[in-house]
Amino acid sequence: MKNRFTALVILFFVLQLTTTIAQNKPDIIFQTSTIDALMNGIYDGPISLKDLKEKGNFGVGTYNGLDGEMILLDGIFYKVDFSGKVIKMNLTTQSPFAAVTKFKADKKISASRLSFKELQELIDKNIPSNNLFYAIKVEGKFSYVKTRSVPKQQKPYPKLVEVTKNQAVFEFKDIKGTLVGIRTPELAKGINVPGYHLHFISKDKTGGGHLLACDIENAEILIDQKQDILLSLPETKEFLDANFSKDTSEDIKKAEK
Ligand code: ZN
Repeated sequence: MKNRFTALVILFFVLQLTTTIAQNKPDIIFQTSTIDALMNGIYDGPISLKDLKEKGNFGVGTYNGLDGEMILLDGIFYKVDFSGKVIKMNLTTQSPFAAVTKFKADKKISASRLSFKELQELIDKNIPSNNLFYAIKVEGKFSYVKTRSVPKQQKPYPKLVEVTKNQAVFEFKDIKGTLVGIRTPELAKGINVPGYHLHFISKDKTGGGHLLACDIENAEILIDQKQDILLSLPETKEFLDANFSKDTSEDIKKAEK
């Protein structure tokens, strides 16, 4: 009798442990909505930053109304608005598009004197396959950074490729900071920007945005391989009624690269 009780207690703890491990599985990217929805002008989503924060401490995206560029770093949500100002966001704010994760580096590379193209090539050489997702964090000193942000939109919302024609561009020289983002495989085009989708935030949290170009002076490149993506689709009327049959690849290149 006593043995059976012990066995049950052990079984109970094993089950508890498995559940805990499954819930805290670090290698999941949680994403709300898709880049195609954003390309199609779906700029309002139902998810709050509070809910997103439960899914990760690191990521990129935007806020409802396409209100600037989101950087989630060390569990804090920042917005780089259209004027270039960095604002710490309230957790009740909602997002129409974000990809977040619990960042845990699998690989660390030290690098110096790299252009944005060389940075991408270096990471490409250091990952086992182009066909998985990776969270990418680059911390260090940049001799040059070029970013952009977008103006908050009013309804009826124009397509993203129209909005980015009027984007604000910011340039920084000799600045410390972090690149935060996701490398998405081609097989998932339509879900997130294929290739590198990186946002920048300065170390003093006074500047940043969606990365357009950079020159690294010296930096640590941290790569976190992700096999799993949990895609949460919004049940808003705009999303339910949208037609995603058109290939947005060309628009994505124009709007995001
Ligand atoms: Zn972006």
